[in-house]
Amino acid sequence: MPGKAILNGTVYTPSEKIEAGVVLISGGQIEAVGRQGEVEIPPNTEIFDAAGMAIAPGFVDVHMHGVLGKDCMGIGLAEVIPALPAYGVTSFMATTLTYPRPEVIEALETISEILSSPPSGAHCLGIHLEGPHLSPKRPGMATADWVYPLSSQDFDVLQKAADGRIRMITFAPEEPGAMQAIPALVANGVVPVIGHSDASYEQVAQAVKLGLNHATHTYNAMRPLQHREPGVVGAVMHFDEIYAELIADGVHVHPAAMDILIRVKGLDKVVLISDSAPFAGLPDGEYEWEHKPIFVLEGRCQLADGTLAGAFATLDMGVRNLVNLLGLPLEKALIPATRSAANSVGAHRKGRLEAGCDADIVLLDADIRPAATFVGGRLVWTRP
Ligand SMILES: [Zn+2]
Repeated sequence: MPGKAILNGTVYTPSEKIEAGVVLISGGQIEAVGRQGEVEIPPNTEIFDAAGMAIAPGFVDVHMHGVLGKDCMGIGLAEVIPALPAYGVTSFMATTLTYPRPEVIEALETISEILSSPPSGAHCLGIHLEGPHLSPKRPGMATADWVYPLSSQDFDVLQKAADGRIRMITFAPEEPGAMQAIPALVANGVVPVIGHSDASYEQVAQAVKLGLNHATHTYNAMRPLQHREPGVVGAVMHFDEIYAELIADGVHVHPAAMDILIRVKGLDKVVLISDSAPFAGLPDGEYEWEHKPIFVLEGRCQLADGTLAGAFATLDMGVRNLVNLLGLPLEKALIPATRSAANSVGAHRKGRLEAGCDADIVLLDADIRPAATFVGGRLVWTRP
């Protein structure tokens, strides 16, 4: 197969911004990145003209539940995978939610079956299990009756149903027995993620010592920061070990709180997520999710009582919001949606345009809207 070169655009690696840059691709990987004229393009290379657009690493969404009416938690995943490149997402974690345990197990089996032979589209890095191991005090939209504490034994059962594909687990470490499960998760390459948690600062500190290093949607569904009890939010800000997920839809977190988190943690420890509900991208209306009616209205997904039920935004909107609401330059706004996100789950060949990395690339127009997306060097989507 001949190689490809994407040229005539500004390359964001994202550590570096290269005007009139070129990305050379061979065999699904990036062969070279540099300035046009400085990177040698072999004969017979297929040329893709970026027409002056931004050439950025594909977005990595480690926390998303679905899009366009399709849910990651079951057969809908087969339609989420091909839909994601339109939002600039080239890799993601299929994120589950709290259902009664037998339904969770069934869903994990279905997801695993789809991932054994996935359709063309975004690359699924694995499963992010969000619940049922949440705090009954901070369930978010989850039904409190269905939550129960994490234990190593229970995790083994779920991981077996998922055929080893669970890569992240959001849980409340303060629940009985949950703390002791952390070392085994880490030893098995599963990222332990604090979330939907009412833990005290001291409890989070203990969890960090055991290997906790990631937090689900910082600020949302966790004990807030108070000056005498810094809570989960204070601990997430305080411990450098923790990657802090952030929903930047402009609804879940006030822009000032987004800015504070980014200043405290630095862009390399903030992970932009969509937390998209399956209704993201659909018109306003009434839908059903987790056996409950959900109302989508003007960019919010919520239950009848106003509890937020996932986000309406997709990850590209989060990147635009970092630019438009916080005033970050694009080269900085890209970092939490690409390199940081990939690093947070150990996917070190994703989220950056460097020789040897996977050729997962998105072209962004002047409004930071995706125009074309490559996964593993293959053009999988172009804007109609
Ligand atoms: Zn979620």
